[in-house]
Amino acid sequence: MAADPHNVPDFKTRIAKALGDERLRGAVRYTADNLRTKRNAVVADLNEQAAQRMAIGSFAELRRQARRIKEHTLKHLDYYLEQAAERIRQNGGTVHWAGSAADVVRIAEEIAERRQAKRVIKSKSMASEEVMFNHALEAKGVEVVESDLGEYIIQLAHETPAHIVIPAIHKTRRQIADMFGAVAGRELTTDTPTLTKFARETLRKKFMAADIGVSGANFLVAESGTICLVTNEGNGRLTTSVPPVHVAIVGIEKLVPTLEDLAVVLGLLPRSATGQKITTYFNMITGPRRPGEPDGPEELHVIFLDNGRTNLLGSKYEEALMCIRCGACLNVCPVYRNIGGHAYGSIYPGPIGSVISPLLNDLGAWTDLPQASSLCGACHEACPMGIHLHEHLVSLRMDTVAMGKADPGFTRVMKLWMAAWRRPAIYRMAAKLGRVAMRPFVKKRADGTEVAESLPGPFAAWTNTRNFPPIASRTFHERWSDLEKEGKR
Ligand code: SF4
Repeated sequence: MAADPHNVPDFKTRIAKALGDERLRGAVRYTADNLRTKRNAVVADLNEQAAQRMAIGSFAELRRQARRIKEHTLKHLDYYLEQAAERIRQNGGTVHWAGSAADVVRIAEEIAERRQAKRVIKSKSMASEEVMFNHALEAKGVEVVESDLGEYIIQLAHETPAHIVIPAIHKTRRQIADMFGAVAGRELTTDTPTLTKFARETLRKKFMAADIGVSGANFLVAESGTICLVTNEGNGRLTTSVPPVHVAIVGIEKLVPTLEDLAVVLGLLPRSATGQKITTYFNMITGPRRPGEPDGPEELHVIFLDNGRTNLLGSKYEEALMCIRCGACLNVCPVYRNIGGHAYGSIYPGPIGSVISPLLNDLGAWTDLPQASSLCGACHEACPMGIHLHEHLVSLRMDTVAMGKADPGFTRVMKLWMAAWRRPAIYRMAAKLGRVAMRPFVKKRADGTEVAESLPGPFAAWTNTRNFPPIASRTFHERWSDLEKEGKR
């Protein structure tokens, strides 16, 4: 059972812990680099194909189209939700509406109780993580087993995912072999065939014994009521077809209107997530087993999850609902790459997590996450949906200040700064004093440039890990007035 990710030490303590864990940082950087390299290669390949008219568009064109599709869908979300619900019912499925995480759990518990279910197998689903599904059902005596290899690893470790796409990104092979070995009751080697063979043999029995299969949805096509699952291990297909009941937990933002629209977003997701043109398995599920069909579930339940999403509709943050959960923004984020996922304290880490965790929950309780960014904009560049994550982070910081929840020390410094900027005489005097006060800490480098090192007091937090440029020996005003005197201005 995973612990409540937010019920842990404060953000700074979590960051310090992550920064001190060289193994974690090495594992995260290794995989993030790998994903980024593969993504860049496959995007370049797509662009080349598009130039030869062998693809439906370049990456930039698909990005523009995908944004148009999502903008349109979000604007008419009520219509497309009704349409999707109608199609799912026509296909023989049952639709449930969940306003909150508790609603999802209640609905799932009712299904489990009616079916007298004792065992659930689950494929990878961030929506189920969001509602702490495993935790809730296990409390009711139902065994929940993760079938995605990465999710299975973190379930054994009693952790939450450290990455949206690669949940066990922070684990080394040795750690995984030790965990699997503890379940197997024997020592396992770290080679891929041994580890995957163990997982396959263990999980196959769980698939066959499960009473309910639970999945998420990467997309749901409104015009046909089709649930789309993108996986590489085939566990999604087994989860949704072997147990007699399939329950899909679907965030309401996962809708795309048509199958044609699906082709566009599908052109972006695997490329951005894992650097693949298409994943090994792509499942399209349109209803439960039909009369005469040899297999498939007897019941299909789709639980549409809101849990704060509708609050974003029509707001300045609506764009965040375009996210297709590819994880590309995590892989390029200098903060995520150094602290990994758990330090964020949310099941959605990285730049997108720092935006949606406060928005889907309560900004007042998550004021620290929007600060976890250098605002370099790499996340926006990498995002296949072109979400302006860095701008939303700035906006959330402003909201935090407006709520009176900003760090009091930082607020005092900024107020002093503002007062000085409004009074030129004070500003000039402060600059002169700062220059004199900084002088003892300024060191000359071999190339002649100067840097300030080991500043005292609150400035030490900066110079402990970075250099600080010294205040210029002559201010801009002084140099400007010199130029005026020389008649050059
Ligand atoms: S914000 Fe963009 S890059 Fe990040 S997970 Fe969502 S779609 Fe991917």
